[in-house]
Amino acid sequence: MIGARIGHGYDLHRLEPVAPAGAGRPFVLGGLSIEHDRGPVGHSDGDALLHAVTDAILGALAEPDIGQLFSDRDPRWDGADSTIFLAEAMRRMKARGLRIGNVDATVICERPKIGPVKESMRTRLAELLGTDVGAINIKGKTHEKVDAVGEGRAIEVHVVALLVP
Ligand code: MG
Repeated sequence: MIGARIGHGYDLHRLEPVAPAGAGRPFVLGGLSIEHDRGPVGHSDGDALLHAVTDAILGALAEPDIGQLFSDRDPRWDGADSTIFLAEAMRRMKARGLRIGNVDATVICERPKIGPVKESMRTRLAELLGTDVGAINIKGKTHEKVDAVGEGRAIEVHVVALLVP
């Protein structure tokens, strides 16, 4: 598969009680709103899965990362829908004559449980990435109750993406 490119993306967001009780934004993951009493703290909407996918694509292209393209000091991105960031990575990918081969993601959090929303999340991600659901995999894991992630105070995501001509 000459010309294929692989990229890795990682993200972590602190989870806090949803405002006004805390600094958490409404919980959103993979472009899906999920009912939860805690939510990500972040400059944008805090969608850790979309941020990691965006960085995996940008990484595969060896282009600047999400933090370089969309500064967390820029008021334009305050509360921004993270699909905007993903769309820019996709634009750069297409400009290079590439498309998504497949994406494999691991979401690590204590709650909410990923299992019940996994299929709708795959469908949503496939739609955002312009590919079919068979090219998208999402694994949900806990952190066995240890450290910040295991104590429900953070969510962590790892993503590998293969781009093909
Ligand atoms: Mg992020």
